[in-house]
Amino acid sequence: MDKFFSDIKKTFGGAVKKSGEVVELTKLKLAIADTKSEIKLKFRQLGEIFYKEQKGESADLAQTEDIIMQIDELKEVLDAQEAKLASLKKQKICPNCNSSIDEEAKFCSRCGEKFEDDEFDEEYEVVSDEE
Ligand SMILES: [Zn+2]
Repeated sequence: MDKFFSDIKKTFGGAVKKSGEVVELTKLKLAIADTKSEIKLKFRQLGEIFYKEQKGESADLAQTEDIIMQIDELKEVLDAQEAKLASLKKQKICPNCNSSIDEEAKFCSRCGEKFEDDEFDEEYEVVSDEE
């Protein structure tokens, strides 16, 4: 009986904590959208330079190297942001195929990679300690 009520408390505490997570989740989603649109912009700049070059107009080809480097950096940022988003959503990234899967999953639903169980136990302890 006692365990039953403590479980309810745990669930309730988790729900309260969630509201802070939702704010962070929203911010993160906005940041991801920003990064994605920045990447799109860089690709457009690249496209314009190559378009001009193809048309025989004066194109600043030296600039393309910079832009490509910036795109690579932005993609790294995006990867980190998406990994964080996955962890906030209680998901994890499969080390084998990079798809995001449920934190509690024992196998990757995409490639079948097996995960260790103790990872989940650790997570559970962290949650109850934060109380
Ligand atoms: Zn996988």
